[in-house]
Amino acid sequence: MALALDQAGLKTILVDVAAVLDQLEPSFDGRASAIAYSALRQWRALGLAEALEGVAQPIRRIVVTDGHAPGPGGGAAVTGRMCIQASDIEDAHRDEPLGWMLENRHIRMALDAALTRSNVTCLRPASIAAVQFETNRIEARLEDGRRVTARLAIGSEGRKSPLRVAAGLGANGWSYGQTGVVATVQLDRPHDGTAWQHFMPSGPLAILPLTQDRASLVWTERTSRAEALVTISDAAFESLLRRRFGDDIGQPSLIGARFAYPLSLQLSHSSTAKRLALVGDSAHGVHPISGQGLNLGLKDVAALAQVLSDAAKLGEDIGSPLVLDRYARWRRFDTAGSMLASDLFAKSFSNNNPLMRLARDAGLDAVNAMAPLRRLLAREAGGVTGDAPGLLLGQPLDEAAPPG
Ligand SMILES: Cc1cc2nc3c(=O)[nH]c(=O)nc-3n(C[C@H](O)[C@H](O)[C@H](O)COP(=O)(O)OP(=O)(O)OC[C@H]3O[C@@H](n4cnc5c(N)ncnc54)[C@H](O)[C@@H]3O)c2cc1C
Repeated sequence: MALALDQAGLKTILVDVAAVLDQLEPSFDGRASAIAYSALRQWRALGLAEALEGVAQPIRRIVVTDGHAPGPGGGAAVTGRMCIQASDIEDAHRDEPLGWMLENRHIRMALDAALTRSNVTCLRPASIAAVQFETNRIEARLEDGRRVTARLAIGSEGRKSPLRVAAGLGANGWSYGQTGVVATVQLDRPHDGTAWQHFMPSGPLAILPLTQDRASLVWTERTSRAEALVTISDAAFESLLRRRFGDDIGQPSLIGARFAYPLSLQLSHSSTAKRLALVGDSAHGVHPISGQGLNLGLKDVAALAQVLSDAAKLGEDIGSPLVLDRYARWRRFDTAGSMLASDLFAKSFSNNNPLMRLARDAGLDAVNAMAPLRRLLAREAGGVTGDAPGLLLGQPLDEAAPPG
C-alpha cells in the first residue's frame, strides 16, 4: 500500500510494530502464498519484478479431488475430481500461468528492498499508542512519544487492527475449529507446476509447488488433532503424509519447522470510517481454502491507491468521506462474494455428509467437463474479473491518465 501511494506521489509514512529483520527470518512465518497473476502484475508495476525473479514458481495446473486415492495406509477414495490448466485462461493472457507460488519470506524481502529505494518514511519497529480522528486530519501518538499527523490513516495491521478498534468499528466472524499446519517439503520427483488440493473430511490438504521441486503443504485438521501434527517427529510426520496422501507426494522430506495457524473468518462492519480506510485482513479475513486472503488485500491496495491517486490529481481531500466512499463501493461486491465463496467451500468440503458429498462431487465433475466453467474459474483465480484497477493490469500509477 505504501509503495503504491509513493508511486502516486503521495507523502506516506509506514508504521509497523515488527522489526524488519525479525520479519525476514525463516522462523517468522513458514507460509508460502498462492498469488494471482494480476497481483504479481501489480508487484511488477511497483518495481518488485527483479527481486521476485527466480523465487516465484509458476502454477501451471490445479488438480482438485474430493478424498484421495488410498495410499499404503488407506485414505478416503476419490469421488470427484477437477483439473484446471493454464491453457484455460482466455487468449489475451495465454502467456501467463494460472498464478504464482511465493514464500512469504521472499515477498517480505522484495517489499522491503523496494521500500528502501522509495520515498516512504518507515518507522519500524513502532506502534501507535493513541489516535484521534479529527474532521480534517488524524493525529497519532506513537509509543515512543513521536507524533504523526496525516489526512488519512490506512489500517493494514491484520485482523486485530488497532486502528479499526480505535475508530469504533466492530467485526463479525467465527472460528472454523480447524488449524492449518504448514510445512515445506523436498519432493523426490518434478512437480511440473502442479498445485494439488485434496478435500478430506477433516479439512483440505494443499500441496503447492515451490521452486527447486519443493512444495508448501497446508494440512488443515480439526484443532484438537492439529497440535499432534506439529509436535510429532519429522519421520512420523513424513510417514503419515505418505500413508494419507499416497503417490501424489512420493517420498517427501521435511525442510525446516512446522507452523500452526488457527483458522477463522472475520469481517469488519465497514472498510472505512472518519479519516480511515482498511485494507487486507484488517477489513476481511477468510479461510485459506481458496488461497484468496492476501490476494483480496492486494486488490484493496490497487483500488484504494487508484482512488486516492485520482482524488489527489483532482485536488480533492484524500481523507474526505466522498473519496473513501468510492473505495468502499468499489471493493464491497468482490469482498462479499469472495468471503461467501470461501466460507461455503470451507464448510461444504470439510465434512463427510453423503448428500453434501454427492452435490460437491457433481459440481467438481461438471466444472471438469465444461470448458467455459473452467475458464471462468481460471479468470476468478487470476483476480481480473469485473472492474479491475490499473495496477492489477500491470499499469504503474504514475503512468495512468488523469480521470476524465
Ligand atoms: C495457513 C494459511 C495459508 C494461507 N495461504 C494463502 C495463499 O495461498 N494465498 C493468499 O492470498 N492468502 C493466503 N493466506 C491468507 C494471508 O496470509 C493473509 O490474508 C495475509 O497475510 C493478510 O495480510 P495483511 O497484510 O492484511 O495482514 P498480516 O499478514 O496480518 O500483516 C499485518 C502487518 O501489520 C503489522 N502490525 C500488526 N499489529 C500492528 C500494530 N499494532 N501497529 C503497527 N503494525 C502492526 C504486522 O507486523 C504485519 O506487518 C493464508 C493464511 C493462512 C493462515
